[in-house]
Formats: sequence, C-alpha cells, structure tokens
Amino acid sequence: MNFPTDIESIFEQVDRVNPIKYGRTRNFKNGAVSYLSPYISRGVISTRIVMRNLIEKGYHLENAEKFFQELAWRDYWQRKWQALGEKLNSNLKNGQYTPVHEKIPVAALTSSTGIDSIDDSLEHLYSSGYMHNHMRMYVASIICHVAKSDWRMPAKWMYYHLLDADWASNALSWQWVAGTSRNKIYIANQENINKYWSDDQRGTFLDVSYNALPPVEIPESLSKVTLPEFKTALPSQRTIITDQSLPTLIYTVYNLDPFWQEELEANRILLLEPSMFERYPMSEKVMDFIYALSENIQGIQLFVGSFNELKERLGNSTVHFKEHPLNGHFEGELHERDWMFPEVTEAKGSFFQFWKECRKFFP
Ligand SMILES: Cc1cc2nc3c(=O)[nH]c(=O)nc-3n(C[C@H](O)[C@H](O)[C@H](O)COP(=O)(O)OP(=O)(O)OC[C@H]3O[C@@H](n4cnc5c(N)ncnc54)[C@H](O)[C@@H]3O)c2cc1C
Repeated sequence: MNFPTDIESIFEQVDRVNPIKYGRTRNFKNGAVSYLSPYISRGVISTRIVMRNLIEKGYHLENAEKFFQELAWRDYWQRKWQALGEKLNSNLKNGQYTPVHEKIPVAALTSSTGIDSIDDSLEHLYSSGYMHNHMRMYVASIICHVAKSDWRMPAKWMYYHLLDADWASNALSWQWVAGTSRNKIYIANQENINKYWSDDQRGTFLDVSYNALPPVEIPESLSKVTLPEFKTALPSQRTIITDQSLPTLIYTVYNLDPFWQEELEANRILLLEPSMFERYPMSEKVMDFIYALSENIQGIQLFVGSFNELKERLGNSTVHFKEHPLNGHFEGELHERDWMFPEVTEAKGSFFQFWKECRKFFP
C-alpha cells in the first residue's frame, strides 16, 4: 500500500470509499477498508469531511451505518483522551491479565512469531507504515496475552511505526485488547486468523481451542524479549522568517490541515517539539510522511524547539492553534477541531452509548 501525500490524491482516496462493501468485508485481509487513517490522524482531513462527502453521495445510516460508526470511533477515543489526559497511560479499570514483563518479544521486531499471517503483516507494517485493524488486534493480543507483555511499551512500538499514529486510538485500543479498560480480553486462535487472512496454517501455538487460550506457558518463538529504544531523528531547523505584523498559525503532527484559515495572510509554522517526540517517538518513515504532507500548506516553515522558544521568536505576532490534548501548554487563540458531531462533546460510557448520542445529530 502506497500513501500519496498530495491533496488531490488524498481526496481521490476519499472518493473511493465504498461504505456498503466496507460493511460486508472490513474484517478481512483484502476487505474494502478506506486507508484514510494516515490522513485523518495527521489532521489533513477530518472525520467530518469524510462523513459529509459520503452523505453528498447519498449514503445514510440505513445503508452505511457501519462505516459512519467506525469513523466515530476516532472521535470517541479523542474525546476520551481529552477527558483522561495523562490517565490514558495508566490501566483504566483493571490490572492486566498476568502481565509478567514490560518488554516486547524480539519476534515482533523481526517478524518471526511463527504465525505466517502475522509475520507477513509485520513486514508490511515496517515497509508501508500501515496495518489492518483486525491484524492490529491479533498482534496486540499475542503480545499481551501469549507473550505476556504489559501493553504500554508494545503500544509505543506500534505507534512508532504507523503513519496513522494516534496516541488515543492506539493506547485505548491496546487497553481494550489487554482487558485493562474493560472486564474482557481480546484473543483469537489460528482458525480465526486463517478465516480472515485466507490462510491454512496449522500446528502453531494458536492452533488450539479457545478453552486453551491464553496459554499458560510462553511459546518458544515469543520467549526472547527486549527493551528497544525508540528515537525520532529531528532536523535542527530553527531559522524562520516571519512577519510580526501578521498572525501565526501553528501546525503540529496532529494538525496538517491545508484548508485551515486558507484565506488568511499569516505565518505558518510546523512546530516539532523535541519533548513531545521523547514521550511519543515516531520513525523516520512517519516523519518523512509528515514533511511531505506539510507541503500541501502554502508557505509553511519548520521550527524544531519548544513552544516557548517559538513564541519568543514570534514577538508581537498573535498565535493561533487547534485544540489537541498535546497542545495544553500552547498559548494564544485556540481553534476548535472539526468533529463529526460537534454537539456531542463528551465520550461518557461505552462507544455504543456515545454512538447513540451521535446518531441523534446525523444530518
Ligand atoms: C492495537 C491497535 C492499535 C491501533 N492504533 C491506531 C493508531 O495509532 N492510529 C489510528 O489511527 N488507529 C489506530 N487503531 C485503529 C484502527 O486500526 C485504524 O484506525 C484503522 O485500521 C485505520 O485503517 P483505515 O483507515 O483503512 O480504516 P477503516 O476501517 O477504513 O476505517 C475508516 C476510518 O474510521 C476510523 N476508524 C476505524 N476503525 C477505528 C478504530 N478501531 N479506532 C479508531 N478509529 C477507527 C479511522 O479514522 C479510519 O480511517 C488501532 C487499533 C488497534 C486494535
């Protein structure tokens, strides 16, 4: 899978979404998934833009609810992050089902778990920066429940490699699989993987009935563990040319919206804060994707440093930024994000309670 970065190609991809086929096939390897998450996560397009595009084409809840619902998961997790803040990084409800270590199996890094479909998908993740949702669930499940890793470090590993890295969707999905945010765990056996990945592999450590899962013993292929270091190689770009009589719009890795205040004459800065990348590192591949996406924004300049350092350089220019949980320390004029249902401002309770609320405002 190749992810183009020019805005025309991105909108062509939005136009290709087939929500009816999606509803029938989304859980399968070659299902009609949209591949839009790298653009939505990076804030190039919003869930609302995608929803509107489909509505204009005549789709509605009766024939495309599953797709609208899945889109809403993104906003649900983001609303959770807004409410939880730092608590997102702690077990939300329960301790993990017998976690025994805080490392990751080497097999995840070398694509050698012994489950062919998983190993192929890991290779694909490393080469493309994308992994199918169902496969993310399989991978998280064997790491947490079979290799018995605490979810936090492996979540960071997956985030590091994903073009769509979104800490809310990521951490909360890992918690969902690990069973730390609910009273259930997610686990699948080989038969299930074979069905959705069109495979016929047998005799693996997952080729057992559900009664035997999770296994008590860690299988040989997952027993070697490691504590990798994830680092983001940031450029040293700090020279910017700005006009202090104009406002300054701040872009981040979560806001690369080329249409934001498009008509406004302004300084436009992509701010990369080293402290953010120390906590949430991203691979070189992801960073290259981000730089390429930022080229859709007219006149954008890169600044590597803290928000305060940037603010000092901007002098009298008024600062504008979009709301995001990682921008809590920014000062200036805050702009609301483009939510699917701006009327639903909280994600109380389960996703289905949230969705029931959202449905009331479906246009
Ligand atoms: C362990 C794990 C880690 C994950 N980490 C991330 C992450 O870092 N970033 C990320 O964007 N998604 C993450 N997801 C959610 C999901 O896997 C991806 O959003 C989805 O696979 C993206 O592919 P797509 O655009 O083809 O999705 P489609 O299936 O075509 O869905 C359309 C859109 O709906 C939204 N969406 C669909 N499913 C989900 C979901 N389960 N959660 C949130 N939004 C969803 C996305 O915006 C997606 O682009 C994770 C899921 C799991 C199980």
